[in-house]
Amino acid sequence: MKIKKFNYVICGGGASGLLLASKLISDTFFSNKNVLLIEKDPKNLNDRTWCFWEKGKGELDHIVSKSWKSAIFKAKNFKTNFSTDPYTYKLIRGIDFYKNFNYLKTKQQNLTYLNTKINSIDKRSNTVKTDKGDFIGDFIFTSLLDFDKLINYNKYPLLKQHFVGQLIKTKNEIFNPDEVTFMDFDIPQKDSTRFMYVLPLSKSKALIEYTLFSPKELDKNEYISSIEQYMKNLNPGNYKIIETEKGIIPMSAYKFTSENTKNLLNIGTAGGWTKPSTGYTFLNTLNKTNLLVSYLKMNKPLNEFEKNSRFWFYDLLFLDVLNKHNDKGSQLFKKMFEKNKPETIFKFLDNKTNIFEEIKMMLTFKKRWFVQALIKRFF
Ligand SMILES: Cc1cc2nc3c(=O)[nH]c(=O)nc-3n(C[C@H](O)[C@H](O)[C@H](O)COP(=O)(O)OP(=O)(O)OC[C@H]3O[C@@H](n4cnc5c(N)ncnc54)[C@H](O)[C@@H]3O)c2cc1C
Repeated sequence: MKIKKFNYVICGGGASGLLLASKLISDTFFSNKNVLLIEKDPKNLNDRTWCFWEKGKGELDHIVSKSWKSAIFKAKNFKTNFSTDPYTYKLIRGIDFYKNFNYLKTKQQNLTYLNTKINSIDKRSNTVKTDKGDFIGDFIFTSLLDFDKLINYNKYPLLKQHFVGQLIKTKNEIFNPDEVTFMDFDIPQKDSTRFMYVLPLSKSKALIEYTLFSPKELDKNEYISSIEQYMKNLNPGNYKIIETEKGIIPMSAYKFTSENTKNLLNIGTAGGWTKPSTGYTFLNTLNKTNLLVSYLKMNKPLNEFEKNSRFWFYDLLFLDVLNKHNDKGSQLFKKMFEKNKPETIFKFLDNKTNIFEEIKMMLTFKKRWFVQALIKRFF
């Protein structure tokens, strides 16, 4: 079979792949480059709900279906209601995102969309192998995540953000549609870090997610019974479950960039674009794809695109602590919200604080745990 050549081959048409492909083909700089986007799934299901905080207007505001300017954080004996200003907390439904990029599936001048499974990617020969043929790319971008690689890597602990979310319609009007529950740790912690996340869409409709930051997934029934118990306390009257979503997001300081080559870049979660300490990925993916498109114009090696920052080290320490004291995660987050302004917390989680703000933030945590983690990393 003849191997076809492309300038850019994008492996995986999820969040990062679709954003990158759309940006490449809408930029006239790349009009004479041909792009191949390969995705195995039809992407016609509402398989996830993306939320992120953003300042002012955003490039995907036309598909934001709900946004909030107020939030709640709760833990045992602690509750704070806060304004998210200057940020807005925005929600995009997976299905709206995929529909927004459906045009990429129809014939575009310099883009080919291929619906097939990728069997392998050979980094040396820049070849992507599929049942529908093999393809060589001058540059390859892949969002295919190898979870096993993270599990088998002992140098950094692997926690997972794992959750089940249910979109619930209630008889009684029990939700405040103007206020998102960012984290509610005031639930049984058992032996690991767990919280409820509530995205109210109206007074009688909300997405409720039972979320853990821990090494092991639970039996599906445990997520569901925990949501049932939480709902019971809210006095919902009769209610029905309209949709269910579940997810596992890796929380790891693994150096994803070590997998990149001059001609191959891992993108999205597979590229380390997930914030290790929180699992948030979406806004970073929007920002990174913009940076990447500018970077490609300079014709530089892809393995020089990502730069390591001090935030990587903070995340590493945070994960070391969270891994060792997984039953005490609620205390860590409680301290964070008790002692810091939400605006600073969002800024810190966006890797945008200055060193003084970071030191101040770190002094609010239990110092002994972090000093122990620091010593362990250095000696
Ligand atoms: C349920 C859920 C909810 C989330 N919510 C949030 C949130 O609220 N905020 C946030 O910031 N982050 C969130 N995330 C994390 C992150 O934003 C998403 O996982 C995001 O989709 C990551 O983008 P990606 O491009 O790396 O991966 P994906 O969007 O998963 O894209 C990878 C694509 O590769 C395809 N693929 C995989 N293997 C192959 C193969 N062999 N051949 C061909 N195609 C293949 C997949 O079908 C998929 O379409 C969530 C994740 C999940 C799972």
